[in-house]
Amino acid sequence: MNIKLNDHFLEVKETYLFSDIAKRVKKFQEDNPDREIIRMGIGDVTLPLPDSVTSAMEEAVKEMSDKDTFHGYPPEYGYAFLREAIAAHYKDIGAPTVTPEIIYVSDGAKSDLGNLPDILGDNPVIIPDPVYPVYVDSNIMNGRKISFASGNEENGFLPLPPSAEGTAPSVIYLCSPNNPTGAVYNYEGLTAWVDFALATGSLIIFDAAYEAFITEDKPHTIYEIPGAENCAVEVSSFSKFAGFTGVRCGWTVVPDTLEVNGVKLSKFWARRQATKFNGVSYVTQKGAAASLSGKGLEDCKANIAYYKRNAAALAEVFTAKGIYFTGGVNSPYIWLKCPGNMGGWEFFDLILGRFGIVGTPGEGFGSNGSGFFRLTAFGSYENTIKACGYFREL
Ligand code: PLP
Repeated sequence: MNIKLNDHFLEVKETYLFSDIAKRVKKFQEDNPDREIIRMGIGDVTLPLPDSVTSAMEEAVKEMSDKDTFHGYPPEYGYAFLREAIAAHYKDIGAPTVTPEIIYVSDGAKSDLGNLPDILGDNPVIIPDPVYPVYVDSNIMNGRKISFASGNEENGFLPLPPSAEGTAPSVIYLCSPNNPTGAVYNYEGLTAWVDFALATGSLIIFDAAYEAFITEDKPHTIYEIPGAENCAVEVSSFSKFAGFTGVRCGWTVVPDTLEVNGVKLSKFWARRQATKFNGVSYVTQKGAAASLSGKGLEDCKANIAYYKRNAAALAEVFTAKGIYFTGGVNSPYIWLKCPGNMGGWEFFDLILGRFGIVGTPGEGFGSNGSGFFRLTAFGSYENTIKACGYFREL
């Protein structure tokens, strides 16, 4: 062919992280066929959907089989019942300004995070390091220039903004609670970013995918911070909160107050979604709505509590051993400093060989991840407790 490709795709770093992990685990299994493997590298939920949610979906399926209650294409930005349920959730977490009209339902946070650069021009981009790799890769694909905000031991992996003076209007990605570090901004930290964005005329893209894990007094949404409605969009998801990683549903909040030269950002996002996306199925949206109220909400919270108990058990071990880590509270992730100045891969091989535990080397999440390691709390309680016993021997 003689067509031109988007050569920016060639600039995206090939990641061999998960294939490298799989290769090493396979070799370990071949060499040690009788050893048990404890998987603590998974970023996916493992508990099934609660009956309260699946029965709402079953009802919706039945409606689809009846000519009087059948649903065709869903409304472009989501059914009113789901947008209203999400808005009620925002009211509960202290952000009543998030009303149904500014909520755009989608098939998940990853799609929205990857698609938002479609409506933005060629701005400088600020992304924390380490972080969920989708922000970096989707901006590279669009040819954007990225600068990194360094997360490290000194700032507890919660980088603060640079000086506003002399900083060009930028697009800033923030993720709190963070994947992979589990670190969560407090009110002061998030206010510093909102003030920076307002002072520089920047836009914050706030990823709240792990909001449901917050138990301490920390912001659940960027809209708890005054002024955020003038500088931030928020992307969130039913994946980790309601176990929808395989069902697929999320949303993005685009306040009508976000404007550039009199043009509303919401107008562009609405246009983008209406043109390139055909909505989320009725059955899925019914399930999502069921997870936000009554028994559904109670059951989803119980599942989150199960994972949090795992995270707390791991945190207790590393605290007792004096190993530096972030996360463990307000998050399903533990981000620990590899003991003895080991690199992430060295630690990976050590705990796989000695204990049969599989985690994720921090090197996979940015250059500041080197020498760190991510463990997840999404496994079973029994395996987590087994792993805790092994880590105590370290
Ligand atoms: N944002 C973060 C920080 C994540 O860790 C993930 C998934 O692991 C996502 C977004 C993707 O969410 P979704 O399943 O809704 O696409």
